[in-house]
Amino acid sequence: MATAASARVYNNFIGGEWVDSKSGKTYENRNPANTDEVIGHFVASNEADVNAAVDAAKEAYKSWRLVPAPKRAEILYRAAEILVQRKEEYSKDMTREMGKVLAETRGDVQEAIDMTYYMAGEGRRLFGQTTPSELPNKFAMSVRQSVGVCGLITPWNFPMAIPSWKMAPALVAGNTVVLKPAEDTPLSSYHYVQALVEAGLPKGVVNIVSGDGPDAGAPLSKHKDVPVMSFTGSSAVGRIIASACAPDFKHVSLEMGGKNIIIVMDDANLDLAIDGAVWGGFGTTGQRCTAASRVAVHKKVYGEFVKRFVERVKTLRVGDGLDPKIEMGPCINEQQLNTVMSYVEIGKKENAKLLTGGNRLNSGAHAKGWFHEPTVFGDVDAKMRVAQEEIFGPVVSVIPFDGFDEAISIANGVAYGLSASIYTKNVNQAFAAMRDLYTGIVYVNAPTIGAETHMPFGGTKQTGNGHREAAGAAIDFFTEWKTLYIDYSDKLQRAQIDNN
Ligand code: NAD
Repeated sequence: MATAASARVYNNFIGGEWVDSKSGKTYENRNPANTDEVIGHFVASNEADVNAAVDAAKEAYKSWRLVPAPKRAEILYRAAEILVQRKEEYSKDMTREMGKVLAETRGDVQEAIDMTYYMAGEGRRLFGQTTPSELPNKFAMSVRQSVGVCGLITPWNFPMAIPSWKMAPALVAGNTVVLKPAEDTPLSSYHYVQALVEAGLPKGVVNIVSGDGPDAGAPLSKHKDVPVMSFTGSSAVGRIIASACAPDFKHVSLEMGGKNIIIVMDDANLDLAIDGAVWGGFGTTGQRCTAASRVAVHKKVYGEFVKRFVERVKTLRVGDGLDPKIEMGPCINEQQLNTVMSYVEIGKKENAKLLTGGNRLNSGAHAKGWFHEPTVFGDVDAKMRVAQEEIFGPVVSVIPFDGFDEAISIANGVAYGLSASIYTKNVNQAFAAMRDLYTGIVYVNAPTIGAETHMPFGGTKQTGNGHREAAGAAIDFFTEWKTLYIDYSDKLQRAQIDNN
């Protein structure tokens, strides 16, 4: 186990070199399950480091945009192959870095692999359109073009998957990138970049600057030579980024918070719904943007559901995610743990019924980490703060309801719109829910989590600003359309005027 004195120093990656910060400042990254373990020392970057990274990306863009897309794609393909080889090593590092259990960090690395293969395939599919012109002897078509240097700012909960969702489409489309990873999880982003570099990515095409939001993220979002910003994180920071990008009309994609719901109808398969609520609510310690932090249950099955759900939650084993017996890891850091504890107090004050959990775990095997009991509130009113605000921790609010319309109105009655799910055997109800739930993602008879990389990902209202990640939607964000008209008539033809 590395200590502060023995842990490795990880530099920024700028212009193809691993370089020290301009200020010489670093910060420690510690294991949230055992804070004695130092994962590494990372550069505390500032504006000067960001400027150097953007300069390198701008220079590299001149030639990268001219590399044929299928050739760019081959590099991505090779990077995915490298990730396959290193999946176990990188997954273990990720569990040490951010605490989620090994089965889930393997899933995170796999998602990066899937996305990288998928976008490698897109290298031969950057299709445009051809269409008849309204004029004779004239040809019309549209092509996609790259945009330039993309600034990418990412959160800590999917430390390799989310950077890959942004980097792979940006790169295959011919852009260059500067990534500012979350301060709590830079190592997993470094691993992804390392795979790209070994796969043959030219110098300067990918750059990484670590550090905190105000010092390293803000200068990137404001930089005049960065026309594209892709951000995933909280709605509060998303608002700051959107404002920083507005004066220069940058393309901005914002993927933000969620207050997702599982609806359990009276005809639901309760065993299945309980499995889904446990996995959706407590997977990744509830620290997923798609976490099922609300479960609305029809009053006819409410008593039965709550009894059996709480029994299951009480059995969850909390601890160090490297231990295969453990089912739920720690919160990411002290601040996040404090947020969870403060929402437990808020729930109690609102007279939500604490059914299980509610306490920090800090003795014995939990003494050195940021652990919290899996917690369930029952008899929750949909307007309570615990049912409205994103907690981002292991706290689930169970809300009773009377009928389908009420369930949909509870589901849609929050500021966010990422993911929703309904458990029912009634096909009419399932289709009505698919139509009426105003979220970016809807699941039927499955929990709110489990995105697949070839499907668009994102949300409505305060979750997003209209863009989607993954699938072809990501290519739409990282390219611009150029429409081309070729007139071979040898005379002046006037659209809308000479075509009758
Ligand atoms: P956060 O908003 O605190 O930080 C996200 C990133 O923004 C970090 O890299 C941080 O350093 C940076 N940042 C902070 N202040 C900044 C500033 N002033 N200027 C520029 N950058 C700044 O979020 P987090 O705590 O890392 O992640 C949790 C949040 O992310 C939750 O709200 C969660 O719902 C959301 N999330 C959303 C999705 C999605 O796809 N919708 C996915 C994962 C996480």
